[in-house]
Amino acid sequence: MTRSTVVAPSGPHPDTTGPARRVVGRYRGIRPGPLVIFIAGLHGNEPAGVVALERLFQVLDSESPPCRGEILGLAGNLAALASGRRYLVSDLNRSWTRRRIAAIRTQQTDEEQREQFELLEILEETLRGRESEAIILDLHTTSSESVPFFTLGDTLRNREFAGKLELPLVLGIEEQIHGALLEFLNARGPITVGVEGGQHDDPASVDYHEHVLWIALVEAGCLTPDDVPRYAERVAALAAARGDLPPVFEVRARKAVAPGDGFVMRPGFPNFEAIRAGQPLADDSEGEVLAPEDGRIFLPLYQDQGDDGFFVVRPVRPTWLRVSSLLRHLRLHSVARLMPGVRRSRRRPDTLIVDRRVARWYVIEVFHLLGYRKRREALGFYAFTRRRHDLKF
Ligand SMILES: [Zn+2]
Repeated sequence: MTRSTVVAPSGPHPDTTGPARRVVGRYRGIRPGPLVIFIAGLHGNEPAGVVALERLFQVLDSESPPCRGEILGLAGNLAALASGRRYLVSDLNRSWTRRRIAAIRTQQTDEEQREQFELLEILEETLRGRESEAIILDLHTTSSESVPFFTLGDTLRNREFAGKLELPLVLGIEEQIHGALLEFLNARGPITVGVEGGQHDDPASVDYHEHVLWIALVEAGCLTPDDVPRYAERVAALAAARGDLPPVFEVRARKAVAPGDGFVMRPGFPNFEAIRAGQPLADDSEGEVLAPEDGRIFLPLYQDQGDDGFFVVRPVRPTWLRVSSLLRHLRLHSVARLMPGVRRSRRRPDTLIVDRRVARWYVIEVFHLLGYRKRREALGFYAFTRRRHDLKF
């Protein structure tokens, strides 16, 4: 893997055929089947996914292959895509909280709120009554150089679908960031997978996105491999990109940054590069920013907008994956309530409150095994909720 340098903020992608439309394409088969929704460009400086969607629908429209179900391609932040910025007023992929959604249903006061309201209406209308048969992929790119990979909330259904494509999976990022679109959608029933195609301006990122779109349509059951141009080549390209990286990672830590922190990532960290605890990774107004633990650096921030400085991820052992799958199939999640120091939240019955003075060791690990996600961390307490729609319906 070669080393990256600091990357300048990107402008509109040279390959873009024109201003992005909200509905990039819609393709319906005669036979029944799944609903597959692709979303791209939620971040305006990440047009690679939109270009890949345009290419996909051009081929579908001209070749008219037989298809089961329905395929919908949406572009996210149209105003930000037009100006090549991550967002104009607020990050459209940190805005899908209950409170904000309730507010924009009655009034939209800025560009991103209008974008979000339009997306919300299309998604709700399309998904109504079909939540459990839907598969949703959200396409992004990274500011650092990176091999393509998937991010997902750790449900067995998400894992099973994303695991069919030959790219690394990164579990648990939605515990660290709040208000992501896929988190909002996953709680309603669909399989949801985040796709990171590579570095923002790298033409290869468009190709990787396109490979993922076609292969996902085959794995979803919409198309057969024979209907996909250069299918075997696309599968081989993803396998080659993953190389010898472990198949599954989990997010361990996040460095949050706020405007005014003076956070500057040190140059030369490609995504997934191995790091050691205590190694200087960045600088801010307080001095050096050190790696909190051993692992691999993930999503280092090489652009001026964004509030995640970097994450630390670690490979997940295959035994952990097997054990967690077994425990969840046995529906053993209720044993979490019986652990010492654990009680049910009075305000939210789906939430368990863990007293860290009592339940001190491996709390997060045990809850993850059983299919819970950490929602909050306060002085002395964790709050966990179980991921809904973990297993097949
Ligand atoms: Zn993004």
